[in-house]
Amino acid sequence: MLINLIYIAASILFILGIKKLGSADTARSGNLLSAVGMALAVVATLFDRQILDFTWIFAGIAIGAVIGGVWAMRAEMTGMPELVALFNGFGGLASVLVGWAEFGKIQGQGWQKYLAASGGEVPDWFTTLAIALALIIGGITFTGSLIAWAKLSGRMGGAPTLFAGQKPLNLLLMGGILLASIIWVASPQAARAETLLITVVALSLLIGILGVIPIGGGDMPVVISLLNSFSGLAACAAGFVVLNNVLLVAGCLVGASGLILTIIMCKAMNRTLGNVLFGGFGATTGKTGAQVEGEMKALSVQDAYYVLEAANSVVIVPGYGMAVAQAQHACKELGVLLEKNGAEVRYAIHPVAGRMPGHMNVLLAEADVPYEQLCEMDDVNPIMPTVDVAIVIGANDVVNPAAAEDPTSPIYGMPIINVHEARSVFVLKRGQGAGFSGLVNTLFFRDNCRMIYGDAKSTLTSLVSEFE
Ligand code: NDP
Repeated sequence: MLINLIYIAASILFILGIKKLGSADTARSGNLLSAVGMALAVVATLFDRQILDFTWIFAGIAIGAVIGGVWAMRAEMTGMPELVALFNGFGGLASVLVGWAEFGKIQGQGWQKYLAASGGEVPDWFTTLAIALALIIGGITFTGSLIAWAKLSGRMGGAPTLFAGQKPLNLLLMGGILLASIIWVASPQAARAETLLITVVALSLLIGILGVIPIGGGDMPVVISLLNSFSGLAACAAGFVVLNNVLLVAGCLVGASGLILTIIMCKAMNRTLGNVLFGGFGATTGKTGAQVEGEMKALSVQDAYYVLEAANSVVIVPGYGMAVAQAQHACKELGVLLEKNGAEVRYAIHPVAGRMPGHMNVLLAEADVPYEQLCEMDDVNPIMPTVDVAIVIGANDVVNPAAAEDPTSPIYGMPIINVHEARSVFVLKRGQGAGFSGLVNTLFFRDNCRMIYGDAKSTLTSLVSEFE
C-alpha cells in the first residue's frame, strides 16, 4: 500500500516535471521535480524489494552520475542531440540488461519456484513476452542510438548508407526476430529458451544498426526523438518484466512524449515519418527546385545600423548559425538597444530552427531574452508585412520562400517564417553556404533582402558597437 502511494507521488512528480519542461522559464524546476520523483522511486524500490546490499547500487549510481555529469557539462550546446542519443542508447541497454538478468534469475531457480515467488498470478508466457519485448526494443534502441550518435558527431559519414538488397535483408531480419519470439513465448520452459534469447538479442542489435544507417545525418534529430520514444517503451516492457508500476508509468510517459515530439518535428518539416525513415532527404521525389536568377546584395554593418536606427518594428529570426556562432548574448544586447531606441522587438521561433526541438528557445533563454518577446511562427507571420526589418541570424531553410512558392522544391510545403514579406530583410551569415537541406534560398535574391556577411556573433557585436 505505502509503496504504491510513493509510486503515485513519484509519477505525479514526473508528469508535473514534463509539464514544466514545456516552457523555458520553468524547465529547470521541471527537471528538478522529475529527478526528485526518480530518486523517490529508486529509494522506495530498494526498500520494498529488500535489497539490503546497497554497495553495488551506490557504486553504480556514483560511477554513472560522475560519467553523466562530466559528459553533460562538457557537451557543447550544438552537441546536445548527440548527448541525448547516447542517453537514449544507454536507456535501451539498461532494459536489455534487466530482461536478461530476469531470464538468468528464472534459469537459476527454475520456473516453478520463480512463478510461486511472484504470487503465481503471472503466467510464464507473459513474463517471457515482456522479456522478449524489453530485449528487442532495448536492443534496437541501443545500437540505433549509437549509430545516430556516430553520425551526428561526425565519427561516421552523415550520408545515407545504402546497398543492394538492404530492404529485403531488413525485412528478413524482422521476420526472423518475430519467429524466434513467437517460438520462445509459445514454449517458455523449453530447453532451447537460452538459444532463442541470444538470437533475439543479436537480431535486435543488428536491426538497430541496419535500420539507422540508411537514414541521412540531417534526419538524425527526428530519429533520436523516435529512439527516445523507443527507450521509453523498452523501459515499459522492463516494468512488466520486474512487475514495477513506477517503471511502467515512467516508460509510458517517455514513450508517449517521444512519439508526440517526433510527430511535431515531422509536421514542421512537412514530411511523413515514413519518408524520414525510409527515404533519404529529397531522394524519393527527385525534386531539385527552380533555378534562381539575380544576385545577392551585400550590406555593410554601418549601413545596416542606419536602417535599424530608423526602424519601429524589428523581428529577429534565429537559426542554426546562431547556435554555431554562440551569438545569443550579442543578439539579446542588440535587441535591448533596439528597444531603447524605440523599436518593438520580437523573436520569431520556427519549430525546427537549429538542430533539435526547442534549440532556439534554449539559446535565447540562456541569454535571458524575455519569454514574452518570443513569438511562434503562426503568430508572427500575419504581422510580417508591417515589420520594418527582419534580422535573420544564421537561419536559412526556415525562411526560404521556395517552401511556399516553388512546387518543384524538395522543401515545398514546409511552413516557413515569412520574412520576405517584411519591408527589409538582413541576413547574417558567413558566406553563400546552404542550409541543412542544401538548397539555394530564393530569399537572398529578393530586392528587399541584404546579406551581411561574417560570423553572426562578430556582426552582431559590431552592430551593438554602432548603437553604443
Ligand atoms: P539551416 O541549417 O538551414 O542554415 C543555417 C545557416 O547558418 C547556414 O546557411 C550557414 O550559412 C549559417 N551559419 C553557420 N554558421 C554560422 C556562423 N558562425 N555565423 C553566421 N551564420 C552561420 O538552419 P535553420 O535553422 O534555418 O534550419 C534548420 C534546418 O535543420 C531545417 O532544414 C530543418 O528541417 C532541419 N532540421 C531541424 C531539426 C530540429 O529539430 N530543429 C531536426 C532535423 C532537421 P554559412 O555557411 O554561409 O554561414
